[in-house]
Amino acid sequence: MKLVGAAIYAQYQPFRDGPYRCRGQSEEGFESTILRLETDTGLVGWGEFAPLGSFYSEAFASGARAGLAELLPGLLGCNPLQIADVNCRMDHVMLGQPYVKSAIDMACWDLLGHATGQSLATLLGGRFTDSTALYRSVSQDEPGIMVARALKYVAEGYRRIQVKVGDDPLVDAQRMRAVRAALDDEVLLLADANGAWTLAEALRFTTAMADADYYLEQPCAELDENIALGRHCRQPMLLDESIKTPADLLAAAAAGVSGVTIKVSRVGGITRARLLRDLAVARRMKVCIEDTGGSDIDSAATILMMVSMPRELQMHTVDFMNWVDASNGKGIPQPREGRMLAPRGPGLGIETDPSQLGQPLAVF
Ligand SMILES: [Mg+2]
Repeated sequence: MKLVGAAIYAQYQPFRDGPYRCRGQSEEGFESTILRLETDTGLVGWGEFAPLGSFYSEAFASGARAGLAELLPGLLGCNPLQIADVNCRMDHVMLGQPYVKSAIDMACWDLLGHATGQSLATLLGGRFTDSTALYRSVSQDEPGIMVARALKYVAEGYRRIQVKVGDDPLVDAQRMRAVRAALDDEVLLLADANGAWTLAEALRFTTAMADADYYLEQPCAELDENIALGRHCRQPMLLDESIKTPADLLAAAAAGVSGVTIKVSRVGGITRARLLRDLAVARRMKVCIEDTGGSDIDSAATILMMVSMPRELQMHTVDFMNWVDASNGKGIPQPREGRMLAPRGPGLGIETDPSQLGQPLAVF
């Protein structure tokens, strides 16, 4: 089988619930890049990558599009089902830039699923569950506004609320306490600083919140700062932005970090996310597999990666297609009771809808 064609599409995906604020920045939606790959046998595979603006992660939309235009011509003629080889080819001609490669890798897994008639979940080892828990983020704002937003999500069925922190640690503690007081104990609360605090700020927050029940996510930017904080903090810690390589993950596990958030595009696609996921499973860490943004295509990939890992280690994921007013596929069932059901069809299990994408930006 040979790759004979590729097309890059753009889709703007505005947030349903208004601007998303974190680390003093805000964004109105995701600028998604969607990739269509086609083989000489007529099979089609889809991939998606969407950053949250240019400030949230080491990635930006126009960078992805320029990078894809550089990579794709050199991949025509190769066998897209030999996914390890595709990744080697990409790494040979472009060092790093994992977010550029993520949609290509995802589309190759979709092709492999369609070629074999198997779901991505089966290709990754098989389903342990039919669904996994979802969380919703509450952006930084006045405590009353944050409480109202959290209550809205709980009323919609979500049972995990991630409060964005990383601001003044005592103001953040007030926000967390307000949200905690408004929610039933059964609702799991997380405080995610996206690495914005210094160690001193993180220590002030965790001291102020010492008696509360919550998960702390990526308080400081550097792995060693977070490990140092963990010695003083009783709450379980998840690391997100500082886990990029197997060495990062194993160092975090050795230091007692409880879990990881693996964003597919941050690590370069499903292939590399699978490696990190399986290492985390081997170290009995809680795992969240998600991404920086996107709609149905990206959400299908992350839910299928989640359900193909042991139930007790599934942390949660996101239903990005319900965060935005933009669809690019059909087939993911609507969440029930705060859990997202994984699609069952081959590959990513969804029917991508090209009519939502307009004309391609580039065709190869
Ligand atoms: Mg996070």
